[in-house]
Amino acid sequence: MTASRVLVLNSGSSSVKYQLLDMRDRSRLAMGLVERIGEGSSRLTHTPLTGSGAEPREREERIADHAAALKAVAEELSADGLGLDSPELAAIGHRVVHGGLKFTEPTVVTDEVLKEIQRLVPVAPLHNPANITGIRTAQALRPDLPQVAVFDTAFHTTMPESAARYAIDVATADRHRVRRYGFHGTSHAFVSRAAAKLLGKAPEDVNVIVLHLGNGASASAVRGGRCVDTSMGLTPLEGLVMGTRAGDADPAVIFHLARVGDMGIDEIDDLLNKKSGLVGLCGDNDMREIRRRIDAGDEAASLAFDIYIHRLKKYIGAYYAVLGRVDAVVFTAGVGENAASVREAAVAGLEELGLAVDGALNSVRSDEPRLISPEYARVAVAVVPTDEELEIANQTYALVSDAEKA
Ligand code: AMP
Repeated sequence: MTASRVLVLNSGSSSVKYQLLDMRDRSRLAMGLVERIGEGSSRLTHTPLTGSGAEPREREERIADHAAALKAVAEELSADGLGLDSPELAAIGHRVVHGGLKFTEPTVVTDEVLKEIQRLVPVAPLHNPANITGIRTAQALRPDLPQVAVFDTAFHTTMPESAARYAIDVATADRHRVRRYGFHGTSHAFVSRAAAKLLGKAPEDVNVIVLHLGNGASASAVRGGRCVDTSMGLTPLEGLVMGTRAGDADPAVIFHLARVGDMGIDEIDDLLNKKSGLVGLCGDNDMREIRRRIDAGDEAASLAFDIYIHRLKKYIGAYYAVLGRVDAVVFTAGVGENAASVREAAVAGLEELGLAVDGALNSVRSDEPRLISPEYARVAVAVVPTDEELEIANQTYALVSDAEKA
């Protein structure tokens, strides 16, 4: 196929992140972010990556909606000779958070597909509406181009029912589509495959525990390239302690806060999603700041760190049991890629499980996938930088190239 560029769009309720890639060598041509869409003062930060210096350019102005945001992005790209009207553009790939059970693969967007994404809004009220807006806006800009939806949930659709179902009355759960869907799927897919490569094996031949530790965080158990369990559930709230989300908590906490604390359902939602996790425990959600406070003797920061690590360790143990045999435990995303102290603490004391971290290897800073376990360890411990945009671009380009060949 002649056109070789893919634009990746990650549309949030008031933001759009984008990258333009050349799929011939998978290089990034430009990237950027539009923030505070619809607010008084919006900001577009655009970084061209083709010239010698990757100097970001900033625009501060009111950007009323997603259509205006994409228009501004198109202008910035045009200024670099990378206009979206170019015949070089092969497709636009969209991150879509919730694909339910129906979307197990990246999918070319049709009216039917959009309707289905819309039907899933009740289970992803914060994300899917913004994703739909992003797709519609891009369709209006280039109606001739394939728009491809890449779903955060898709990688997890291979989970067996025993992992995906909650032990809740089946009829009620089915009526309201209550089950574990899992999120961060593009990252778990990318990282588990890259980990197999790092081990010099095919994805089918390895069992991996992936720990995606960013501001949002999730763990997954991947057997032979297929996800068999993951820590996020019906929504991204379940599982690990995150920047602002509580992760696992007795569901009765909610009844208790409603009955005894006299809190409304939206207030509790806000508490558990936005005011809990690390920020709720110690006031900070940035692991760098938490480490700095721990070094200064701060007890709240220290306890927050311990709770974070305790939960992480529980999931490593749980997924070890789910998989039976583990070839690698892999850390990724902002915290997983950068915080050596988190990696060290999460694995400390697990020598009986064959897990250990080499202090010197763990302290190396690098953008490359790397092993941090000592040679004697039975199970590899690795750091693999995630790249969700590249994964979305890869999946998008593969789909449109295949369609052209067919
Ligand atoms: P993400 O959501 O993957 O972008 O991750 C963002 C989080 O990564 C931040 O909130 C920080 O807690 C963490 N982070 C980023 N850089 C570092 C670093 N150098 N050391 C420790 N944590 C970091």
